[in-house]
Amino acid sequence: MRQAPDVHQAEPIPAAAREAIEALLQSGDLFRYTAPQDAPVALLESEFAAMIGTKYALAVSSCSAALFLSLKALGLPRDARVLIPAFTFAAVPSSIVHADCVPVLCEVGADYRIDLADFHAKLPGVQAVMISHMRGHTSDMDAIMAACDAAGIPVIEDAAHSLGTTWGGRNIGTIGRVGCFSFQSYKMINAGEGGILISDDADLVARAVIMSGAYEHNWKKHKGPRGQNDPELALAFARWQNRLPLYNLRMSNLSAAVIRPQLPELARRVRDGLANHDYVAARLMTCPHIDVPAPLAPERRAPDSIQFNLVGLSDEAVQAFAEAAKAMGVTVQVFGLSTDNARAFWNWQFLGDQPDLPRTRAMLMRACDVRLPVRLTRDELDTIADILLDAMDQAMGPAARAYGT
Ligand SMILES: *Cc1c(COP(=O)(O)O)cnc(C)c1O
Repeated sequence: MRQAPDVHQAEPIPAAAREAIEALLQSGDLFRYTAPQDAPVALLESEFAAMIGTKYALAVSSCSAALFLSLKALGLPRDARVLIPAFTFAAVPSSIVHADCVPVLCEVGADYRIDLADFHAKLPGVQAVMISHMRGHTSDMDAIMAACDAAGIPVIEDAAHSLGTTWGGRNIGTIGRVGCFSFQSYKMINAGEGGILISDDADLVARAVIMSGAYEHNWKKHKGPRGQNDPELALAFARWQNRLPLYNLRMSNLSAAVIRPQLPELARRVRDGLANHDYVAARLMTCPHIDVPAPLAPERRAPDSIQFNLVGLSDEAVQAFAEAAKAMGVTVQVFGLSTDNARAFWNWQFLGDQPDLPRTRAMLMRACDVRLPVRLTRDELDTIADILLDAMDQAMGPAARAYGT
């Protein structure tokens, strides 16, 4: 058996980052608000906003911080109910708890996307909706926006893992009132940690900027599109001066220096990630026990991992499959089977008692997750696919006999 590739090693950071970091180390100018203008964080914000097609961007310490600030910037009262898909990362309901609001979990189907029947049933009881495009799988944003717009309910997009994904030609993250992205190491752009919030709403952005830690008049260093002065934004800052808490969730210039040279790499990473994913998906789909859910029609994905469902396997066979793959060097995460998995809603015990979500639970018990970093070669992708198919043969042979089927 060939050696399985290391799927945790990241792509090298472009060399241009070195120069920028060296300059920062020389000057010691690591705080975003020290320089009168053009600090790396401010430049990142205007470059990111231009790239994604939005008026404003605010760089912060993580996507979780961006989600928290979004809820605060929407002015939601204490105990406001916020709908989220029940398939997401524990940090997402945590951001809602952090903002003194209450998560309402919505069922997710076998295609990893929001179950629209449950969504429509629960929408009348909530004050905001936070759509987590989990593992970059886009829920039906046309249906969701139509229902939320009709009800006057604001939508936050958790696009942490969706940078580069488009929906009907529009960038994911620009469809709701506010969008949030992550620069944590396992996302398309890697700064170790970091996040960014985007919106076209000047008042919302002014509130988020102040609460992120733009104390006194530091908000003057936040500009409108293309770094221009923006009268609407200036009025909003004046409106909120001294009226909001400062949570200090800022990004450091060092992080921005690592992120900026990666922005021009994004289009290539998206192209490679999608090609790699589709190549492995086609090979896995030759097996009757593996189903890779198709994207929705308006969706163009930007994957750096693959998710697939195991079909017709007992719990024991699922375990045997994961163990056989592991023994050959490929880690398969079955979301619902690994102990204390942070993406299984029943492990979010900090939320207190929650109603069961049988559809999401059933999906999580059969949904597998395998990392496919965009730098992998065809040979390496073949090795991963060979091992997964081989593991399935091993799991289904003895398992089928043991159960006398
Ligand atoms: C990574 C991730 C987050 C959290 O992002 P951080 O920057 O680590 O806070 C939230 N939601 C989803 C869907 C993610 O993939």
